[in-house]
Amino acid sequence: MAFHERIGNLHIHTILSDGHATHAEVAAFAARAGLDVVVVTDHNVYAGAAQGWHGDVLVLVGEELHDPEDAAHNHLLAIGIDRDVAGGDAGAQARIDAVNAAGGLAFLAHPIEHSGACAGEPEIDWVCWGVSGYAGLEIWNYMSEFKAHLTNWPLTVLAAYWPQLVIRGPHPETLALWDELLADGPVVGIAGTDAHGATYSLGPLCRQVLPYAYLLSALNTHLLVREPWSGDAARDAALVWEALRRGRAFMAYDGLAPARGFSFTAESAGGSYAMGETVDAAGEVTLRVAAPRRVRLRLVRNGSLVAEATGMHLTHRTREAGVYRVEAYRRYAGRQRAWVLSNPIRVRALTTGYPQGAR
Ligand SMILES: [Zn+2]
Ligand SMILES: [Zn+2]
Repeated sequence: MAFHERIGNLHIHTILSDGHATHAEVAAFAARAGLDVVVVTDHNVYAGAAQGWHGDVLVLVGEELHDPEDAAHNHLLAIGIDRDVAGGDAGAQARIDAVNAAGGLAFLAHPIEHSGACAGEPEIDWVCWGVSGYAGLEIWNYMSEFKAHLTNWPLTVLAAYWPQLVIRGPHPETLALWDELLADGPVVGIAGTDAHGATYSLGPLCRQVLPYAYLLSALNTHLLVREPWSGDAARDAALVWEALRRGRAFMAYDGLAPARGFSFTAESAGGSYAMGETVDAAGEVTLRVAAPRRVRLRLVRNGSLVAEATGMHLTHRTREAGVYRVEAYRRYAGRQRAWVLSNPIRVRALTTGYPQGAR
């Protein structure tokens, strides 16, 4: 099936919580960045009425949930919801359950945080493990990674003016955690920017750090949707949520180089498969990666590297079951930086007598 690639910027705040732009302003920044979709997630605020088409940009609204009395941990992105699900301090599992009951998808936001000594903010990581029913993890949060690099004042000034010099990719621990969780079942990976447009002062310096215009051009989640846009916001939103629910998506640092056209697919005797899908293979499976530009490609199986290539293509034939995902790196300012992270394709080896459809 041919999918339609839509570029989405997820995890954005507006003036309804601690951001500094309105929904309309966010839509205007998104249009300038060439985005198709933005997902606004204000803290414990759901502005469903703001959802809709703004020119060529589909503005979708969710919320970022946390205990209103304790904002220091367990931030949960609630997206695709049909109502406000912010409800007191019932706990992380109750929040996930509420998101699911509202027809939405729950993603654990910036699950592992490191806060540099000069960040001036605490580490807001996910501590309530053992929860279930969430759709996935925010594998890469631009603002969160940025905070981790603010370890001394010279670096902080450098990062404030040229964030692209410090940003490298998701924390390795987050990727390791994802691989661990993927062993037990589907966990969709998304990228978020956590755009706020806030201004910070550092001595005589006063600077808007990571402005909307920058972040909305930086780190995106590319979605492979089933149908062309209809122009009806509710119907088009459903296409976005379906792709996200299935993990038919990849994370891309488009600010480094546009990643539109990246693909990771599998082929077996049974057909061809997209990211987020499961191949039930009785024989050989061919995994194919195609990048729109020359990069370093790594194919990872169950968290370990199984194939590597520098170029625009990587092909790997295998009979081994496992969870396969792709990482692409691109050199910038003397260092390899994460550029694309795919969602996985799961290969299940079928043997004679294996019951069809069993897990
Ligand atoms: Zn957060
Ligand atoms: Zn946030």
